[in-house]
Amino acid sequence: MGVYNRAPLAFERGEGARLFTADGTAYLDCVAGIATTALGHCNPVLVNALKAQADKLWHVSNIYRIPGQDELADKLTAQSFADVVFFTNSGTEAVECALKTARKHHSHNGNPEKIDIIGFDGSFHGRTYAAVNAAGNPAYVEGFGPKLPGYIQLKFGDMEALKAAMGPTTAAIIIEPVQGEGGARAASDEMLRQMRALCDEHGALLIFDEVQSGMGRTGKLWAHEWSGVTPDIMAIAKALGGGFPIGACLATAKAADGMTVGAHGSTFGGNPLAMAVGIAAFDEIAKPETLANVIDVAGYLGQQLQGLKDRFPDVIVDVRGKGMLIGVKLIPNNRDFMALAREHNLLVAGGGDNCVRLLPPLNLTLDEAREAIEKFEQTCETARAKAAA
Ligand code: PLP
Repeated sequence: MGVYNRAPLAFERGEGARLFTADGTAYLDCVAGIATTALGHCNPVLVNALKAQADKLWHVSNIYRIPGQDELADKLTAQSFADVVFFTNSGTEAVECALKTARKHHSHNGNPEKIDIIGFDGSFHGRTYAAVNAAGNPAYVEGFGPKLPGYIQLKFGDMEALKAAMGPTTAAIIIEPVQGEGGARAASDEMLRQMRALCDEHGALLIFDEVQSGMGRTGKLWAHEWSGVTPDIMAIAKALGGGFPIGACLATAKAADGMTVGAHGSTFGGNPLAMAVGIAAFDEIAKPETLANVIDVAGYLGQQLQGLKDRFPDVIVDVRGKGMLIGVKLIPNNRDFMALAREHNLLVAGGGDNCVRLLPPLNLTLDEAREAIEKFEQTCETARAKAAA
């Protein structure tokens, strides 16, 4: 189906932060499969984990115990607020599970009227019906039949509107601690604290969508750790498998109390191949040196990009985001800028609010970061020359 606006570029292989076309041309990859190949392309630790599991067992179904699920769930719960985990194949399925878990919690506890899910503009939660309704972006909702009942969108950051919207029918608030697709917009710590308090006051659940911001992207394992606020439910995916399709919905035991036998399921979710790679990826990403590298290299990138903003006020309006989820708001069209960057063998992602995003692998070296800045600077020069022509 013609649903993708693809760049005229195809890659044959990847190694670390490099992608290579069939003719051997190298590109510096600051997209990383949109924050997914977080340990670089074909990371040998992940390749070995996948190969070893491929020789043993691929798939059995969730009607049996899958030892890797216990192991990865133990790691995730040991290093988060959560007590229980449901494994999915993608981020949107993790969000779907989060939303179902929230509503089921309320009906299970005798409050079936609590169905309203409050989301915010600029959010992206994936493409299932529930996910597009939760985010409310008209471009992704319209034309697909009636909007689902029980979804409310508010302006990001409008805490007064949020206070007014919370009530006895509120099931949950869903928010990305740092918006990804929306253009690397971080919710302030104070916003998250107020949301936590409002949820507690109204008996509602707080859902964090950390599909993009989680798994070390901001320099902590979870972006919400910066605020000290914990959710009741969290969706993760992307970097969790380092490029292998996997997602997970994490929850406290209380929030997940309605998710009893038969309430939910998946054929592929949590299969042995995904678990083997997920365990290897988690161990690498959770290492203090990986997270320290994110903070160091992101600090360098942020500082240099601010410098470019000062030098190119006709190109760059704003530099924002958190850690290695970096947004650069532009004056020239972001898609044109991405094409210009490709001419300089640099790959950057698009984002809302006319941003380009830099989402490099978390193990990007300082040398590679310097190269990324050089190429970004060259791209700004080309953009400036084009505007003048
Ligand atoms: N949530 C967020 C914050 C995302 O950034 C994405 C994907 O970009 C999703 C959910 C959906 O994930 P997936 O594309 O794996 O379904």
